[in-house]
Amino acid sequence: MKKKSNNYYSNKLTAILLAGIFLYMSSCTTPQKKEIQGQGTTLTPLSTKDYQTVYQLSTIKALMNGLYDEAFTFGELKKHGDFGMGTFNKLDGEMILLDGVFYQIKDDGKTYSVPDIGKTPFATITNFKADTTFSINEDLNYKELSQYLERLMPSENFFYAIKIEGEFKYARTRSVSAQQKPYPNLLEVTKDQRTFDFQNVEGTIVALWSPDYVKELNVPGFHFHFITKDLKAGGHLLGVQTKKVKVQMDYKSAYHIELPKAGEFLKTDLKKDQQKAIEKVEKEKKR
Ligand SMILES: [Zn+2]
Repeated sequence: MKKKSNNYYSNKLTAILLAGIFLYMSSCTTPQKKEIQGQGTTLTPLSTKDYQTVYQLSTIKALMNGLYDEAFTFGELKKHGDFGMGTFNKLDGEMILLDGVFYQIKDDGKTYSVPDIGKTPFATITNFKADTTFSINEDLNYKELSQYLERLMPSENFFYAIKIEGEFKYARTRSVSAQQKPYPNLLEVTKDQRTFDFQNVEGTIVALWSPDYVKELNVPGFHFHFITKDLKAGGHLLGVQTKKVKVQMDYKSAYHIELPKAGEFLKTDLKKDQQKAIEKVEKEKKR
C-alpha cells in the first residue's frame, strides 16, 4: 500500500514536471517582442513637486541622430518644471521655458506661443528656486561669463539652473528651421542656422550646467538660451557681453530622464561617440 502510494505520487510529480518543461520550452521557442507599456504621451510621474530634479526628455545623442519627432507634449512637460530649454518636433526652433511659460523662437528670431498639444523631442527643465544670488556689473563675454559662473559653483559635479537677467551690451542668438523628412542630422541642420544680433538689450539668459560625466545624455558644461525682456525675440545663445545683470543660481542634485517609448528611438544606434559634433552644434561661434 505504502509502495503503491509512492509510485502514484511519483508518477503525478513526473507528469507535472513534464507539463512544466513543455510550457517552459514552448515559451522559449516562440519569443515575441513585447510592446512597451504606456506608449504615447503619458510621462512617468515624480512623487512630489520638487526643486532638486533636473527633468530631461530623450537624450542629446538621439537629437544629434535626427530623432526630431517624439510624443512628449508641452502640456505634460510643464508639470515637471517652470524653467529650462529644448526644441520642438521637426526641430522647429529653439525652446525656452521661463516663469512657467514656454516660448518658441522660430527661424525668424521671434517668439511664438506654445500650445499644450505641441510636441518636443528633447527638453531639459526644472523647478527654479535660487540658492544664491549675485550681481555682475562688468563687461563679460561668453567665455568670461562662463568662467565667472564656474567659480561660483560649489562643485562641477552637480547640475545647475541659472537665471541671468538685466542689461546686456550684446547678445547673439541662433535658431533653426523646421526640417523635412528624411531628417538630416543636427550637425547638418546647424550649418544652415540663422543668427540674430542684439545691441544694448534687456533680457534673460536661461542657463543650465550639466556635469561632464553626463555628456552621452545632455550638453556638458553650460547651455544658454536667451529671451528679450519684452519676450518677443531670442534663441540659443552663441555670444554675449554683459553690462549689468542679476544672477540667480539654483543647485540641483537629482536627474531624471524620460525616454521615448515608441518610434525611431527604439531602433536607432546611439553607440557612436559624437562629442566633437555636440561641441560644434551647441558651443560654436562664442564671443
Ligand atoms: Zn540650445
